[in-house]
Amino acid sequence: MKNFISGRTAVCGILLHPAAHTRSPAMHNAAFLTLGIDAVYVAFDVPPQRLSAAVAGVRALGLRQVAVSLPHKVAVLAELDEIDAVARRIGAVNTVTLSEERLVGSNTDWIGAVRALEKEGPLEGRRCVVLGAGGAARAIVYGLLERGARVVVLNRKPERARELAASLGPMETGDINDVAKYPYDVLINATSVGLARDESPVPASALRAGSVVMDSVYEPEPTRLLCEAAHAGAKTISGKWMLVYQAAEQVRLWTGRDAPVDAMVEAFEHGPGVHRSVSAVTAPPAKPGSRKD
Ligand code: NAP
Repeated sequence: MKNFISGRTAVCGILLHPAAHTRSPAMHNAAFLTLGIDAVYVAFDVPPQRLSAAVAGVRALGLRQVAVSLPHKVAVLAELDEIDAVARRIGAVNTVTLSEERLVGSNTDWIGAVRALEKEGPLEGRRCVVLGAGGAARAIVYGLLERGARVVVLNRKPERARELAASLGPMETGDINDVAKYPYDVLINATSVGLARDESPVPASALRAGSVVMDSVYEPEPTRLLCEAAHAGAKTISGKWMLVYQAAEQVRLWTGRDAPVDAMVEAFEHGPGVHRSVSAVTAPPAKPGSRKD
């Protein structure tokens, strides 16, 4: 396997703001190394006012694929040549792939969420309560409906939950403060509550033994919600799995190959820095006879 950056190395990346926390370079570079793909993946810190120029740069430089994260997942729709039907329905793009000189937007968050949830069994017919009505919630609700789950969306601003239901399909909606009133088999946090803070979106008394609880937040890991859910006797799923599976689907979309999920999980667990093995990628090839050992 080639192990250095050359004129043939493909460049991929992620557009987001801020950027320092992202674990995507670690996961994707680990995938490229494991698959023996001559590509490198970097994070681009793009504030909102530079999104349009950044996408023009992706096009001009021929970046093969970029992930799109906060705060650009909706704004990027206006910058692309094509948006696939699923991303259009969800209303957000988290993946832009160069295909025959066209920038094509898609959404892999829903697949990431569904695969993570299916670790604890099929979703068909399950009563799922989704907390939140933002971009992550829209992707998760789309995935749950695709799998035939019964969905209730609860949000701090209930009118946003109603708007979500109006565009994705008929479902019950309500106020997140009323969570205790809703029976569920599966509870999913798609709010940003708990992100880098020791907080839960719901009181511990709303958590039930025998249910499945997934947190789309993965920092810290585990979150307070997942600690309290485990204490209540629920099965828990970390947001890490949603993140890894959505990234695995991005790898598949670009390369057409199954992603090495174990290597990507290992890279996630090393933290935001690039996987250590990537240092091998940046080392120039040794000239014949130049080794001094
Ligand atoms: P977003 O569009 O900004 O939506 C934020 C949601 O959180 C809204 O429903 C908002 O409610 C709710 N919220 C914020 N503060 C709240 C509070 N104090 N109490 C109750 N609800 C509150 O963000 P997003 O893109 O959906 O992302 C949501 C979370 O999912 C983020 O933490 C993100 O890191 C995570 N995420 C994870 C993955 C993954 O792969 N694991 C993928 C995507 C996103 P209102 O509508 O009432 O304001």
